Amino acid sequence: MKIAVIGAGPAGLTAAYQVSKRLGEKVSLLDVYEASSVPGGMSRSVKLWDQTVDLGPHRFFSKDKKINELWLEVVGKDYSIVNRKTRIFYNKKFFDYPIKAYNALKGLGIREAVLCMLSYLKQKVRPEKDTSTFEGWVTNRFGKRLYSIFFKTYSEKLWGIKCSQLDSDFASQRIKKLSLSEAIKNALLHTRRNKHATLVEQFAYPTSGTGSVYWKMMKKIEERGGNIHLEEPVNRVVVYDGKASSVFLESGKQIEYDHIISSMPITHLVERLDNIPEGVKKEAKSLKFRNTILVYLLVSRPDLFPDQWLYIHDPDVRTGRITNFRNWVPELYGNSQNSILCMEYWCDFENELWRSPDEEIHQAAIHEINRIGLADRKEVLDASVFRIPRCYPVYFKGYQDKIKHVRDHLKTIRNLHVIGRYGAYKYNNQDHSILMGLRAAENILEDQQHDLWQINTDYEVYQEATTITKTGLSGLKSN
Ligand SMILES: Cc1cc2nc3c(=O)[nH]c(=O)nc-3n(C[C@H](O)[C@H](O)[C@H](O)COP(=O)(O)OP(=O)(O)OC[C@H]3O[C@@H](n4cnc5c(N)ncnc54)[C@H](O)[C@@H]3O)c2cc1C
Repeated sequence: MKIAVIGAGPAGLTAAYQVSKRLGEKVSLLDVYEASSVPGGMSRSVKLWDQTVDLGPHRFFSKDKKINELWLEVVGKDYSIVNRKTRIFYNKKFFDYPIKAYNALKGLGIREAVLCMLSYLKQKVRPEKDTSTFEGWVTNRFGKRLYSIFFKTYSEKLWGIKCSQLDSDFASQRIKKLSLSEAIKNALLHTRRNKHATLVEQFAYPTSGTGSVYWKMMKKIEERGGNIHLEEPVNRVVVYDGKASSVFLESGKQIEYDHIISSMPITHLVERLDNIPEGVKKEAKSLKFRNTILVYLLVSRPDLFPDQWLYIHDPDVRTGRITNFRNWVPELYGNSQNSILCMEYWCDFENELWRSPDEEIHQAAIHEINRIGLADRKEVLDASVFRIPRCYPVYFKGYQDKIKHVRDHLKTIRNLHVIGRYGAYKYNNQDHSILMGLRAAENILEDQQHDLWQINTDYEVYQEATTITKTGLSGLKSN
């Protein structure tokens, strides 16, 4: 079998890593094509001011045994366990995140806490009928008042549309089954058994940064005889007789394969396919991605705040999240006494911000960090801007119908395996993209029939739930 993989992010590299284990027997040729000059995609790490940073916060977390085993196989012993500390900044106060009932209500003050409880009770008596939107879904679980404080501003900054226009899939994927009553129950009982998925408080982090996982995968693939072609973007997948038959590179070459695994943006994949029905093309075109601008600030102080990252709900500033790399693992900053912060700004291609010169963006970020009070503008020694296009697939209301048409068409193309965050239009974390890669490889090598489109939709770990501890993999007693 000859196999091509498009994209060397977590999804593509995992697929290639698994396939490379069979090189020389079932597989005769494995080529990975990556548009950029480094592996890791959105999960790469970069060197900045003699320190290591990720593209925003990158916490790896999964309960799936296979995903955790693979991660440990690649990372080896080069990781530390980090005690998670993340909070929400709202109205000049910090609130624990994930939300803890007592902490949230105490921080809001007695009057506001009572109003929030009343608003929650009112919701219980008269629930929102339309729970297909993010607004309806969250309001029913937390009440209107808490929804407005802890969910609305942040989500609207992130997605750039009103929460009433956002599909509830975003909430059900990320907030899962948590509600105010469950948060209160957790606070009262606080037993291990009752810990909700979003309340997990520790995570494993590679000591050389998240991107080191994918460098290691790449090296292993090469050692086993696979080819990684960096700076070799794929222009399109060529379909012949209903089967994905070759990749056409931007450099002009066309190469034939038996299987093609694609993690390139689904919109690009579809618009460049031949003989695609107009309707499908139109639906693919209507899918929307949100971009991120990351502004890194070098600050001349080691003790700015204790969190790995903060969610900034305050509507007066445009930044939505601030990462402090000082609070991940010491190996990232070495001997430096300076901290690196990363401020996230979300926007569309059409927004002025996306087109603004770097210098203007630096100044806006420095102004905001000063205004929030996390660092003084005089402490900022340097700034750097990094743009990530198409990093958030937008779950706008009605997106499911659009993606369904696209998905149904792509499913008819034999030996084309579509995976990844922008590849399959799924709001994936690393674990879900890794799982897609794993499953794609199983479909090809073991003739399995996993429906890759279902991953991160109805995917739950039912048995053998695990967690990564200091000494390796450990079983979890409950899900
Ligand atoms: C700001 C931010 C914070 C995040 N925080 C977390 C977190 O805390 N925890 C977590 O687990 N995940 C987090 N994520 C998500 C994580 O980065 C992604 O889930 C993961 O990188 C997705 O992997 P992927 O392989 O699906 O896609 P990508 O990482 O996007 O990789 C796709 C690859 O395909 C390449 N490519 C695209 N087009 C072509 C082409 N035509 N030809 C060849 N190559 C092409 C790209 O260059 C890229 O390398 C975060 C993401 C962002 C943006």
